[in-house]
Amino acid sequence: MADYFWCHGPSCHTYVTTDRVRGSKGSKVLRTRKIKQNNYGYPSGVWQYFCSNGCYNDFANKHAEQIIRIAPRLEPLETKIEDPKKETTDTHWGSYTRTVINKLDESNNVG
Ligand SMILES: [Zn+2]
Repeated sequence: MADYFWCHGPSCHTYVTTDRVRGSKGSKVLRTRKIKQNNYGYPSGVWQYFCSNGCYNDFANKHAEQIIRIAPRLEPLETKIEDPKKETTDTHWGSYTRTVINKLDESNNVG
């Protein structure tokens, strides 16, 4: 496994932070952040490849069409639930009613 990955955010190198400043005096740059990988599986998932939520969002927004092609959703998914119930709670300040929605056993669910 690589010791590090460069952040995949397409604009990472444009965000002005002191930790992105590299280069020698007179030829300084803002550089894409390096994301160190360790032997314990951290960072994991997308955080191996992105330094921040902002960079992850930038990537997802720029490449949304390609990302969706990996697993297109052509039909909605559904989660089976019990019939919703109204539940009223009395407090010192009055009562309020909320709708309670309980999922059925997950083994019954489609998708
Ligand atoms: Zn980044």
